Amino acid sequence: MKIAILPGDGIGTEIVEQAVRVLDATAQVLGLKFETETALVGGAAYEAHGHPLPDSTLNLAKAADAILFGAVGDWKYDKLERALRPEQAILGLRKHLGLFANFRPALCYEQLTHASSLKPELVAGLDILIIRELTGDIYFGQPRGRRTAVDGHFPGAEEAFDTMRYSRPEIERIAHVAFQAARRRSKKVTSVDKANVLETFQFWKDVVTEVHAQYPDVELEHMYVDNAAMQLVRAPKKFDVVVTGNMFGDILSDEAAMLTGSIGMLPSASLDKNNKGLYEPSHGSAPDIAGKGVANPLATILSAAMMLRFSLDQSAAADRIESAVKAVLSAGLRTPDIWSEGQGGTRKVGTREMGDAVVAALLGGAAAKATGKTITTKS
Ligand code: NAD
Repeated sequence: MKIAILPGDGIGTEIVEQAVRVLDATAQVLGLKFETETALVGGAAYEAHGHPLPDSTLNLAKAADAILFGAVGDWKYDKLERALRPEQAILGLRKHLGLFANFRPALCYEQLTHASSLKPELVAGLDILIIRELTGDIYFGQPRGRRTAVDGHFPGAEEAFDTMRYSRPEIERIAHVAFQAARRRSKKVTSVDKANVLETFQFWKDVVTEVHAQYPDVELEHMYVDNAAMQLVRAPKKFDVVVTGNMFGDILSDEAAMLTGSIGMLPSASLDKNNKGLYEPSHGSAPDIAGKGVANPLATILSAAMMLRFSLDQSAAADRIESAVKAVLSAGLRTPDIWSEGQGGTRKVGTREMGDAVVAALLGGAAAKATGKTITTKS
C-alpha cells in the first residue's frame, strides 16, 4: 500500500506529521505494511520549484494508492497570479485525479458536546454526512476573468465574472454516491440547491429527482441553501446525508464543523470513481497559529482513518484509530480549539502531545515505547 504524503503549508506539516506517526503505530499493532513517500505541495512547492503542483508531486499522487494531504496557502502568496497560488495545488489534484466526491462526516463526539458553540442538546449525538461535488460548479466553470462591462448596471465599468455550470453526468454521479451512502445510513438525503434563483441548480434539482427514482427506499428532500444554512444551526440532527454542489458544500461544511466543536475535528475524503482518494482535514493552513504547536491534529488523524477504510480496505485499522481518538478525548486531553473550562477537559495539550496520546492509545501501555518501524519512508 503506497501512500503519498503531501503536508503542504502552515499547520499542514505539523498535523500531517502526527497523522503519519499514528499510521505507523497502527501498522505496528496490526502488522500492516505501508510505503510512504513525501512531496512538496502548495506554497512550499512554489518556493522550491516555482509551481504549487509540480509534475513530480502530481505524478507521485497519481501513482499512489491514496494521498494524505495537509493544507496549502498563506496570506503572503495573495498577490501572486492565480495560477501560481498555493490553493491551485489542491484544485489541480482534484481535477487531475478526478476526485469528484467529497465526503465530510460531521460527528459530535460525546466528549466534545460542550465545545460546540451550539447548545449541547442540539449537537449531542450528531452524525451527519455532507457530500460535496468537488470538480464542477463555479470553482471550475469557464469562462472567468475580468473585462469591461458591455451591459448591466454600469456599462463601460471594470467587472469580474465566473461561470456556474453543471452537466447532467456530473450531477448524476454525485447523486448516485449520495443515495448509495444513504442506504448505508438512515436512508435520507437532503439535496441542497438554489433552484428558486439559479438555472444551474434548477437543473441540479431535476436531475437529482430523476436519479432518485432508482432509490425508492431512500427518502429525498430538497432544500434551498439559505434555508439549509439556517436549519444546520437550528436543528442539525434532522439531517443525515446532505448532497450539494461545490461552493454550497464548501460553505455548509465549514458551518457544520462548528457543530462538532471545532474545524480541527472535521476529516474529509475526496474520491474518484474507483474509490482512490485524497484525504485531508476540512480546514486550511491556519497561518494565524502555524508554527505555534497548538493546531488540532485530530481532523488529519481521522482523515487517515478514512483513508484506511475507503481506499486501502483496512476497516479494522480505521476502527482502531477512531477508538484511540475517542479514548484520548475521554481521558480529557484537549487542544486549545476544543478546550472549554470545566467541561470534561483536564489537560490542555499541543499538536505533538495530542499525537503522542493517540499513538500511546493505539500501542497501549509499555508498548508505546516500541520504536520498530513498519513504514518505509522516502522524500
Ligand atoms: P483556516 O481553515 O486555515 O482557518 C480558519 C480558522 O480556524 C483559523 O482561526 C485557524 O486558526 C482555525 N483552525 C483551522 N484549523 C485548525 C486546527 N487544526 N486546529 C485549531 N484551529 C484551527 O481558513 P482560513 O484562515 O480562511 O485560510 C487560511 C489559508 O488556508 C488560506 O490561504 C486559504 O486559502 C487556505 N485554505 C486551504 C485549504 C486546503 O488546503 N484544502 C482549505 C481552506 C483554506
